Amino acid sequence: MTYKHALALYPYFRDSTATMGVFPPTGLEYIATNLKDLVGRVTFLDLRYEKEYQDVKTLSDFIRKEIDLLCISISWDSQFKEICDLICSLPDDVTTVVGGRKATEEVEALFERCPNIDLIVRGEGEETIKELVKGVPYSDVLGISYRENGKVIHNEHRPLPDIFNADFPDRSLRRHDYHWIQNGVKIARFTFDTVLTSRGCPYNCKFCTFSLNPLGQKRKYAERSLESVIEELKSITADVVLFSDDNFFTNPKRSEKLCDLIIESGIEKTFMVQTRIEISRHKELLEKAERAGFKILLMGIESPHDKILKQLDKGFNQQQIREAFKVFNKHNFYIHGYFIYGNIGETEEEMVYIARFAKELKLDSITFQKLRVEKFSTLKEVVENTPGYYCDSVGGPVYSDTYSLKDLRRIRDRIRRNYYDFGQVRQILKRVYTARVFSAFDISYAFAKLPKILIRLTRREFEKKGWVSAQ
Ligand code: SF4
Repeated sequence: MTYKHALALYPYFRDSTATMGVFPPTGLEYIATNLKDLVGRVTFLDLRYEKEYQDVKTLSDFIRKEIDLLCISISWDSQFKEICDLICSLPDDVTTVVGGRKATEEVEALFERCPNIDLIVRGEGEETIKELVKGVPYSDVLGISYRENGKVIHNEHRPLPDIFNADFPDRSLRRHDYHWIQNGVKIARFTFDTVLTSRGCPYNCKFCTFSLNPLGQKRKYAERSLESVIEELKSITADVVLFSDDNFFTNPKRSEKLCDLIIESGIEKTFMVQTRIEISRHKELLEKAERAGFKILLMGIESPHDKILKQLDKGFNQQQIREAFKVFNKHNFYIHGYFIYGNIGETEEEMVYIARFAKELKLDSITFQKLRVEKFSTLKEVVENTPGYYCDSVGGPVYSDTYSLKDLRRIRDRIRRNYYDFGQVRQILKRVYTARVFSAFDISYAFAKLPKILIRLTRREFEKKGWVSAQ
């Protein structure tokens, strides 16, 4: 074996909610699973949970003594600078491989900032990492960038892999369960996990890069076999499972079959899925989904306004959204809606209308984000060609001569105030209870943790002001 002991490192620290929410780093788990039979041993460290290894010296000592292959996942924009600093301070004599969405976008910057990175895996890395540990020469491995004689070499892209019978993550590599941790306090007793049953999405919403792989290639919609999905679900011990498919109900017949199999297998969990309003046309599927435990639907609505929906190529209009919600509201799903504000040509009152529209639909909760332009988004060209609209950085927010970033923050606060009033909080609690998302015991458990969180928050504020010393 070329490597005796590999470390799969998820370098994000702070609370479980800071990055990737409450869920495990699935992409890195796929890599670790593909590595495990090809190296002597794999250790999986998620720094959000590893207090001891958040200390750079302890982590470096461990790597120096034990590790000969270090695989690091960089997937998010947040903490990018801190993670570069962390990598720079790790031992430079260990083969260091970096991958993930953000790493793929920032290949040049990472090589420049971190002299100890040997190699970057671009795009989906399962096949690539296998070839690397089997000792295939770097020059023959597709989808990598590496250093050679002081230069960075970029190999050809790797074609997208078939996922029908791909291995799913080996959860025995984990050192802990995944909880909801806020300001250092575990506020829910249930545990979380994710499952990926398909990749890609056949829609082409203009702002979206989810359906692209990190190289900007449109990922053709591809499904895993249902037998393998059920086998994976049976191996999961967590209470709440997110199907991280871009759109879980893309193939309604398959989704219905999966619901049947979940019911037949007696698997009892709370499932969360990302979906589109079109699912409202499949009434039998909705009933089965409810029976199978699909309790939380995450729905991209984006805007109440037809002109914006058209601009974003969302594929439906306001009337169709209203019709869909008449169907959804006959069921007992907890529905969370996503909206985008600050769109091109959108006025302040049109943006603030999001709050009223969401209430009219009876959405349980919403998040609303400023329009952003990602690296491969087709919206980039539209913003660049619209006089008076600007975006200063890749993935950054769009602002305009009419609405500065400060104005947009003020508008965000107006939407929040108009939507999250007392009645809405009451609706959230009621739905959480009636949809049996969580039990009365879970809700009271979370409430019981509130004083502890407030004490921690207050202490952090005092530390910032220097009134007490940092812990
Ligand atoms: S926003 Fe959703 S539906 Fe639209 S392309 Fe992206 S993943 Fe598909």
